[in-house]
Amino acid sequence: MRKEILLRVTVAVLGLAGLWLAWSQNPPAPLTMQKVSDNVYVIVGNGGNVAFMPTSEGVILVDDKFAQDAPEILAKVKSVTDKPIRYVLNTHQHPDHTGGNEAMLAANAEIIIQKNARANMAAGKQPGLPRITFTEETQVFLGGKEVLARYLGRGHTNGDAVIYFPSERVLHTGDLFVSSGAPFIDGSAGGSIKEWDKTVEKALQYDFDVVIPGHGPVAKKADLVKWVQTMASIRTRVERACAGGAADAAKRIDLKDLGMTGGAMFDRGVPGMCQELSQ
Ligand SMILES: [Zn+2]
Repeated sequence: MRKEILLRVTVAVLGLAGLWLAWSQNPPAPLTMQKVSDNVYVIVGNGGNVAFMPTSEGVILVDDKFAQDAPEILAKVKSVTDKPIRYVLNTHQHPDHTGGNEAMLAANAEIIIQKNARANMAAGKQPGLPRITFTEETQVFLGGKEVLARYLGRGHTNGDAVIYFPSERVLHTGDLFVSSGAPFIDGSAGGSIKEWDKTVEKALQYDFDVVIPGHGPVAKKADLVKWVQTMASIRTRVERACAGGAADAAKRIDLKDLGMTGGAMFDRGVPGMCQELSQ
């Protein structure tokens, strides 16, 4: 009995030590910041891409990565402006985009999210719930600048907002568009492979040059145009693979010519896609 406890403790300690070793050998890379227009900055690294726009009355921030990244986000913003973060727009509820919410609320920022995304967040018992929601569209006017958040339909989840900075000709797509790797369809949060491409297509109505994807390098409008085709093509391939059975469909999907490999996250979404496509 005691031997068993000792063994368990030893395994636990070794496990922690292993994690620590893995972390210390591969700590998350420090966040980096780039200016993508006259007034919009992007912070990339660990978690979803963050965007922010300083104004004379304060800062509007889009997404806030994981909780652990909040101090670095605040420091990066501070390196550009002495004004506080007044508003945070969450593109959707995933913790790599909303993890810093608690810290932003503590810093007196108001957080806004699409109604379905807040419900997803509450269902997942995630901390840092936003106080304000919208269904179709909302705007924030601050210091003579304007930012628009728009829900265009289902895709990555059932509550993705695109964030448009009209004066900057910049669009933040959240995870509706990723420029690194395959898309993840969150079936548990109402994501849809059937509608994803049509949802993204609606975002093309806005006048913009720069696209900030949920993950991956900053892109151009032409990349988002191409992404509509990519998502339609992925749907066709998934549909074909699902015909041979949902359980191992992921194994039959080849995305190499689209410049991506499926990966664990994509594969996780495949059974849900098969189910949706069979309806
Ligand atoms: Zn996401």
